[in-house]
Amino acid sequence: MKIYADNAATTKMSKRAVEAMMPYLEEIYGNPSSLYSEGQKAKEAIESARETVARCINAASALEIYFTSGGSEADNQAIISAAEIGKKAGKMHIVSDQIEHHAVLHTLKKLEKEGFEVTYLPVSESGIIDTDELEKSLRDDTCLVTVMYANNEIGTIQPIRKIGEICRKRGIIFHTDAVQAVGHIPVDVEKDNVDMLSASAHKFHGPKGVGFLYVKKGIRLSNLIEGGAQERGRRGGTENVPGIMSMAEALVEEVDSMEANAEKLIYLRDKLIKGLSEIPHSALNGDAVLRLPGNVNFCFEGIEGESLLLLLDDKGISGSSGSACTSGSLDPSHVLLAIGRVHDVAHGSLRLTLGDDATEEEVGYMIKSVKEVVEYLRNFSPVWRDLCAGKSKFIL
Ligand SMILES: *Cc1c(COP(=O)(O)O)cnc(C)c1O
Repeated sequence: MKIYADNAATTKMSKRAVEAMMPYLEEIYGNPSSLYSEGQKAKEAIESARETVARCINAASALEIYFTSGGSEADNQAIISAAEIGKKAGKMHIVSDQIEHHAVLHTLKKLEKEGFEVTYLPVSESGIIDTDELEKSLRDDTCLVTVMYANNEIGTIQPIRKIGEICRKRGIIFHTDAVQAVGHIPVDVEKDNVDMLSASAHKFHGPKGVGFLYVKKGIRLSNLIEGGAQERGRRGGTENVPGIMSMAEALVEEVDSMEANAEKLIYLRDKLIKGLSEIPHSALNGDAVLRLPGNVNFCFEGIEGESLLLLLDDKGISGSSGSACTSGSLDPSHVLLAIGRVHDVAHGSLRLTLGDDATEEEVGYMIKSVKEVVEYLRNFSPVWRDLCAGKSKFIL
């Protein structure tokens, strides 16, 4: 059996998304900035895609959507723009949290070197931010709050609407990295009181290398890329027309089937969680309920996540130990450390993220395979032997 269970890292493009890009590769290949009709057709196409994207997140206007090369660029541009607005007003304090994606964390680190002060809020053991604590952390010189909609590793969904409300009342810009949320759970920038929102097509069955940034009217974006007048002068470079068209199609498709997909995925997710919970000395990471429909993340004591992944790969299962960005490095996940997992336990993590086409049969196979592999690895593990012999104490 072949099972792709790493949909938080990237998703397979849908048929509709592939088909939507073809005309713009083969026929309508004009440059949207060109004045002749071939260019203008491409221009009209991306403007209609902009309206589609705006509608899918309930933005008031298509002019609030800026196309980018993906989630990372959108995060960078949002945060740097808000920081520049803050700096001009003498406000150089930013509030974020400890479990953000590196596209956010590394941008904040850069700003700290430039003199900004950043508060990284802790999260609860289940991976949720305390909104009272967030409110208390706000200061007169806070220029930005950036909190992700849903976490890419442990799938927890943050109280975005409440955070937006708090920020709106104080007139503080609120950005959310919604890369894991858009196309998967309902996102409404108006109701959620969001000022800026990042999304990425390849996380919702669109192509890689394209995404968008929502920016509420009145907030001035700073350019990361200087060049032509594309994206209303805020992002130079010829537009990725096929990618943009495909992204809009994928988003409509996902939004239209969201309810049915979520219902099915929650059922399969909870079945998988129940099955893996039967493994002794294991624990679910992240909140059991405030959780993305397809996300399962566990820690198993006494094993190495990397060996687990390799053996699961042999059984045809593509999983992950956390985020694609940290795997390959020996540091345990900053997200697992933030929810209180100690280093050794955090190393034995497994993330399985289900896609829209997941089946009950696959879930059964994954439960069986993970059980077998964990048992096999524990038999060879000196750490496990010490635990069983009582030389060290079980944590989970
Ligand atoms: C994947 C991801 C990103 C990065 O998006 P890219 O389009 O790959 O640059 C940012 N934030 C989160 C939460 C993600 O899951």
